[in-house]
Amino acid sequence: MSYEEVVRLAQQRGFFFKTAESYPNSPAGFLDYGPLGVALRRRLVELWRRTIVKADGMLEIDGAQILPKAVFEASGHLASFTDPFVKCAKCGSVFRPDKLLEEKTGRTFPEKLSDPEYDKLMYESGVKCLKCGARLSGTSRFNMMFRVGIGPAAEEAYLRPETCQSIFVDFPLLFKTQRVKLPVGIAQVGRSFRNEIAPRQGLIRLRELNQAEVEVFFNPAKVDDPRFEWAQNETFSFRHPDGTDSKVTLGENVAKGIVPNKLVAHYLALMARFYVAAGVPAEGIRFRVLSAEDRAFYSRAAFDLEVKLSIGWVELVACNYRGDYDLGGHGRVSGTDFRVDDGGEKVLPHVFELSMGIDRSLYTVIELSMRGEGEKRVMTLRPYLSPVQAGLFPLVNKDGLQEAAKETAENLRESFDVFYDESGSIGKRYARADEVGVPVCITFDYDTLKDKTVTIRDRDTRQQERVPIAELANRLTALTRYPPMRR
Ligand SMILES: [Zn+2]
Repeated sequence: MSYEEVVRLAQQRGFFFKTAESYPNSPAGFLDYGPLGVALRRRLVELWRRTIVKADGMLEIDGAQILPKAVFEASGHLASFTDPFVKCAKCGSVFRPDKLLEEKTGRTFPEKLSDPEYDKLMYESGVKCLKCGARLSGTSRFNMMFRVGIGPAAEEAYLRPETCQSIFVDFPLLFKTQRVKLPVGIAQVGRSFRNEIAPRQGLIRLRELNQAEVEVFFNPAKVDDPRFEWAQNETFSFRHPDGTDSKVTLGENVAKGIVPNKLVAHYLALMARFYVAAGVPAEGIRFRVLSAEDRAFYSRAAFDLEVKLSIGWVELVACNYRGDYDLGGHGRVSGTDFRVDDGGEKVLPHVFELSMGIDRSLYTVIELSMRGEGEKRVMTLRPYLSPVQAGLFPLVNKDGLQEAAKETAENLRESFDVFYDESGSIGKRYARADEVGVPVCITFDYDTLKDKTVTIRDRDTRQQERVPIAELANRLTALTRYPPMRR
């Protein structure tokens, strides 16, 4: 199913849609979630929480979205969280030079070229304004943070461009008050804000985005904990900087130095496990190894967890070995000692980060779950991710069947998200439920009035089964239970 089809269906069924849709020229890069999208996102985040946060004994925080300027001085965002842009001399349209070059030449260009390097390439390839064909300016830089002013004096502050900075800043306090030891992961789910120059594919590049981030703090001298061993035997596809692919165990990649250590291998495997549990086929997941040129300067190793979609391989998680760059920087600028005790030794922990895009991941889960052609669409979501767990239908709208179905729906609503539907044929009602991933439909017929049983119809197998009403809650509980946290 194509990107456009998924987005259209998502809008029609109320998963997500463009912000301020009814206003012409409302800016790109913003998104509203509808009722089904909110429910799906909540369940997807809960699956992440169980698979990553709880399974690994991490802490979870929820930091403020506005942070003072000093935080972004220390993090390096003020100086270098910039994108290059060029401007049309005639119509004023703004473009990213790397994207223009990509379109013109069909090649990909590193994001980290200098402005003169972009200017030279732009000149050589003869790129002109895409809108009016006029000449373009030289490359300039645009800081992608949204600036805000606090109070009447408009004290300089910024909407966070990533959730992780509060995790770094809060680390000494959390380490002390939560009585934890290294290694420890600290997680956060929340909004981040990036003033992208020209966001195009709606859900893939947003200006206001949802992230689920994990920062793992560890002693770089202790990366061989026995609890990391399991991941050594896990096999994944890797895309290497030279364009070749390999599919070997993480243990083999640790031995080759492609994955820096066993701790990193453990977290890569945990992240992939989450996507498999979310319904992404294992063979559709790969880790792209970033070359030194493509990594941030402080990064010691970086992997993009990518998933194969209709629009190509899409990065869903940035997995980044950040060394002591973050804690070192915040220590220097704030004047606080960010070192902690590890078995009697004072260490400045290293950080391995798993930065997941929730909006992209939600899109991925929807696209990969869609089956069928034309009018008949089935969203084969894992039942524990389904926004609605059951539809309840009276076979006909008379003789007390409506009342029986409504009463059961009310009772089930206590513990589940269910809906009642009496309009149209049973076939139409099944189809509407299938299209939004409802795993079971429950039909009330004349036998229900005699023996208090109903028909349960399974979305994926289309099998029907007779079940007592008194059993429904147990059935739904079993069906929608999350997978076990540990294998
Ligand atoms: Zn122009």
